[in-house]
Amino acid sequence: MVLQELYEECVDLLSSVGYETNVSNITFNNRLSSTYGSYCEDDFSIEINEKVFNLASKDQNMTTIIHELSHNIDHMTNGSIDSYLEGHGENWMKIANDISEKLGFQIQRYTPFTIHVHYDKKYHHTYKCEDCGAEKMVMSKYKDESKVRSGRCKYCNSDIKYLFNGQYAISMKNGGRTIQLDNY
Ligand SMILES: [Zn+2]
Ligand SMILES: [Zn+2]
Repeated sequence: MVLQELYEECVDLLSSVGYETNVSNITFNNRLSSTYGSYCEDDFSIEINEKVFNLASKDQNMTTIIHELSHNIDHMTNGSIDSYLEGHGENWMKIANDISEKLGFQIQRYTPFTIHVHYDKKYHHTYKCEDCGAEKMVMSKYKDESKVRSGRCKYCNSDIKYLFNGQYAISMKNGGRTIQLDNY
């Protein structure tokens, strides 16, 4: 699925029911974490969460793009975006409801679907030197310890022994060192 093509499809759909849009550009933004997309009033641009886009269906992505385009339509029609409800006030609502009715997409303040984004996960494996007792943490993409290249003690070059899966953390209760086990 190509963002630009899908965007053009959405623009054409809106045009077919009488809504003209005026967006400068649409791009991916990897910094968006809690939102699927955003419309920037200052330069008429739209940003789309790339991780969500790659996991969502075509219909879901069109819902996101049309939602952001509805902010642009509100901006064009009413001269500015009402800061009430972060742009989802009465003026926007009228446009969103009308688009939903005419095109069959659910354009709501809160996206009508949920996409769970999985960020790259690293597993922490902790070892202890059999000679000097120094502990060593190794980060790995593997959960299975037998696949981890643990190496040797960085102080005395001795063999190290596997301790546990997880990492050391500071206890919020007493400030002491605790072990934060990786939860899978
Ligand atoms: Zn919105
Ligand atoms: Zn050692």
